Amino acid sequence: MLVDSHCHLDFPDFTDDLDGVVGRAGQAGIGILLTIGTHISRHDQVIRVAERFDNVWCTVGVHPHEAGVEPFADVETLVRLADHPKVVGLGETGLDYFYDKSPRDRQRDSFKMHIEAARRTGLPVIVHTRDADGDTAAILEDEMGKGAFTGLVHCFSSDGQFSEKAVELGLYISASGIMTFKTAEALRDTLRGVPLDRLLVETDAPYLAPVPFRGKRNEPAYAAHTAARLAEVKGVPFAELERATTANFLRLFGKVRP
Ligand SMILES: [Zn+2]
Ligand SMILES: [Zn+2]
Repeated sequence: MLVDSHCHLDFPDFTDDLDGVVGRAGQAGIGILLTIGTHISRHDQVIRVAERFDNVWCTVGVHPHEAGVEPFADVETLVRLADHPKVVGLGETGLDYFYDKSPRDRQRDSFKMHIEAARRTGLPVIVHTRDADGDTAAILEDEMGKGAFTGLVHCFSSDGQFSEKAVELGLYISASGIMTFKTAEALRDTLRGVPLDRLLVETDAPYLAPVPFRGKRNEPAYAAHTAARLAEVKGVPFAELERATTANFLRLFGKVRP
């Protein structure tokens, strides 16, 4: 059994097709799906998806794109919303200086609030970082010094220096379809160096479909293609990659009951 550790099943892309999407994931061997929150204002929809399927779990958080417009991402609200049996993590949060859709100081403040909520609840934080690795690493290191928390860097596309820092801080690294792209040789080299006991697999569906579906709508079933490529890159049999990434997920997301 594999896990899709990051997808967005509440997005309109899936509204008419949710049973099909979850069913096809099951047929492809994806036993657990984690649907990730991006807006506090849409949290009810995320919860509804998680409550509808036994094997779908969810998180609560505000995406860095929304950090400037969603007014509710204070620590108390996050902690309160995380106190639901289906909510197993905080985020996604982090820094996105590529799109810069929210003021950077708001992104940093929101990121720190999610980390504090992760610390208080004992749930992992899901970190998004794009064109911001210096600041992301600095905040993670600084916050870890203030008090331990757990988490992962999702849709990993950073360099080896960043992955080493994340691993050193005790965090996990999640590989998405990006690592299957023809031009992603450097990323594959970096992932080869990440210890197998720190790796997860995700789709980030509906975005970033892996080869051979690149450019199409992504869905959790396609996580199997990324996992197969990751097994090749790590030089381990598929079954071993499957076992390791699922065990890693369940260790990190201890609230999930498979
Ligand atoms: Zn993201
Ligand atoms: Zn996402």
